[in-house]
Amino acid sequence: MSDLLKTEFNDGVGVVTIDSPPVNALGYEVRRGIVNGVKRCAEDAAIKAIVLVCAGKTFFAGADISEFGKPMKDPSLGDVLAFIEDVRKPVIAAIHGTALGGGLELALCCHYRIAVPSAKVGLPEVNLGLLPGAGGTQRLPRIVGPEIALELIATGRPIGAREALDYGVIDRLADEKSLRNDAEAFARELVRSSAPLVRVRDQNEKVVAARGKPEIFTEFRKKNAKAFRGFKAPEHIVKCVEAAVDLPFDEGVKRERELFMELMASVEAAAQRYVFFAERQTSKIPDIPADTPTREIKAVGVIGAGTMGGGIAMNFLNIGAPVTLVERNAEALDRGVGVIRRNYEASARKGKMSEADVEKRMGLIRATTDYADLSGADLIIEAVFETMAIKRDVFGQIDRIAKRGAILATNTSYLNIDEIASATTRPQDVIGMHFFSPANVMPLLEVVRGARSAKDAVQTAMALGKRIGKTPVLARVGHGFIANRVMTVRGREANQMALQGVSPADIDRVIYDYGFAMGPFQMMDLVGLDVIGRDSNVKTVASELVRRDRLGQKKNGGYYDYDADRKATLSPIALQIIREVAEERGVEQVPADDDEILARLLFPVVNEGAKVLAEGIAIRASDIDIACIKGYNWPVYRGGPMFWADTIGLKTIVARLKAFERRFGEAFAPSPLLEKLAADGKRISAFSAA
Ligand code: NAD
Repeated sequence: MSDLLKTEFNDGVGVVTIDSPPVNALGYEVRRGIVNGVKRCAEDAAIKAIVLVCAGKTFFAGADISEFGKPMKDPSLGDVLAFIEDVRKPVIAAIHGTALGGGLELALCCHYRIAVPSAKVGLPEVNLGLLPGAGGTQRLPRIVGPEIALELIATGRPIGAREALDYGVIDRLADEKSLRNDAEAFARELVRSSAPLVRVRDQNEKVVAARGKPEIFTEFRKKNAKAFRGFKAPEHIVKCVEAAVDLPFDEGVKRERELFMELMASVEAAAQRYVFFAERQTSKIPDIPADTPTREIKAVGVIGAGTMGGGIAMNFLNIGAPVTLVERNAEALDRGVGVIRRNYEASARKGKMSEADVEKRMGLIRATTDYADLSGADLIIEAVFETMAIKRDVFGQIDRIAKRGAILATNTSYLNIDEIASATTRPQDVIGMHFFSPANVMPLLEVVRGARSAKDAVQTAMALGKRIGKTPVLARVGHGFIANRVMTVRGREANQMALQGVSPADIDRVIYDYGFAMGPFQMMDLVGLDVIGRDSNVKTVASELVRRDRLGQKKNGGYYDYDADRKATLSPIALQIIREVAEERGVEQVPADDDEILARLLFPVVNEGAKVLAEGIAIRASDIDIACIKGYNWPVYRGGPMFWADTIGLKTIVARLKAFERRFGEAFAPSPLLEKLAADGKRISAFSAA
């Protein structure tokens, strides 16, 4: 028997302790340990009640996800649960840390639950595209009622012990420091009072009360339609809770199993599982060991308080770091600081932070026009205009001022970081920290490693990215790095197709239906056509729209006209401009159906991703997927462009690209890497240089 199980007998109470670091995941050994331990206590006549507790930092934190997709070795989780529920003595779950997923489902099969105040419980399977498949969708509604169960299971939100106590999910709070003692005392109390063996499966009152009230489910679906769009799991979860209400327990469990198996076999769940692991991979850099010491970052400097600088500063203010904000003149500085304040005040109005929090954060800003004030900063991030000469000038100045060992970062979107670094005497300290707009909101941070960037500088930026709540992805120097580079080709094709006579509204619809929040033209209208077209010297549709003062949603509409409710209709003026530009350029008119629109917009993204890999700009294909998901809201249930490409098949994609190449030119020529992977029958999402 493995030593993860300890069984102790103490004054009539059997204590079964499972110790399987790091999180007591419910893998095979743990399942076996639980059954053996509980059985031992159940068979011992001297034992009147059983406490199930975990050693280490947490109660069973969930299923062992490495077992997913493989047949589960007996005893299955279902067997363990059924066994515990049928023990003829009270079994008490003693919870600390987190009881999530299978962990909570197991606790729900115990007759009683006690938890420390800091514990959290929840059924987060939805985040992996799944549902709790061990009775969770049938038991939780029996305790909390279908409304709360729907909310908790379909959003996956974990709740604290106090909220769980209010809902009846746990029966008692223990003292933070004496869980085991309190659980034993609770057990003795239950024995003394001959408390019943409560089986959640038999508690039908709340589900029966909801019978014949389909509006509970219709309203829930309606309320969440936007958030759930495209995901498979939430709707399956709603169906399970409906089953909990309408069917007897055993039939409900059967229904849950069927729906669970459907999800398990779905592309959406596979994509979400892939994304879950991919997100954890991004910080692994082959030649930089995880234990590389990082530089201490306390004080931060940000140069340029425009669109990006302000948002970047907020990330650091949010973690309590003092930020020195530098601008060219007092006016720009006041404007920048004003925007930060308004953003925080808007959050306070929405109840996301208190007025005191706003002032605390604003109090951490030191606004200045004097570069010399950056001398104390451990990290300086430059976010000035996107011009090489200006950036080099700024880096020359900070080189003279910054303290030794300070990290000098640029937020450039497209410029060559090595060239920027060469304006300093310390290129080893120069890196890219590329945020996405709005910088205080978008979760992607591309950390760009220059030819001479020091390993510890890179490691520090990656770690810091996590500290400010971002997902850091490492890129090498190259035009547009990762996310902008691969997504730019989608924009290029969208514009070209519009010139060929495909309606921008059709293009936007196809992209929306694929799962993006909006299409490229809607996006341009939202960001502002002046922002999109500001560096363009050639006549484009965007520059013409700007010339006619159509800046997008903020002024006179852009590609679309907007009514008072922001409802959009395609603008006849925009269509006229598109026709004019197409005529001037002699663009041939080529209609395209929805399938072709999608292929022409997104297969080139896959192709560009392959080029990014071949050039070593990204370490692994999954980093490209994460960059697109976190930086461009690529739908999670598609897994990102590279994962999605594998679900379609690389051979198909290569063939379509070649056909497009013949019709529209070499921009579509498949990358040699993509061709090779297709020919070898390999998956691109598994590609890694690591
Ligand atoms: P912006 O024009 O809104 O802001 C730039 C700010 O820098 C202005 O307030 C300007 O006064 C200030 N500035 C210019 N020269 C300066 C100097 N020498 N010293 C101090 N301040 C100076 O531009 P932005 O959109 O915030 O872009 C800034 C950088 O971020 C650019 O490199 C851009 O490519 C990059 N970026 C932009 C986005 C985006 O979506 N806007 C996204 C990622 C990266």
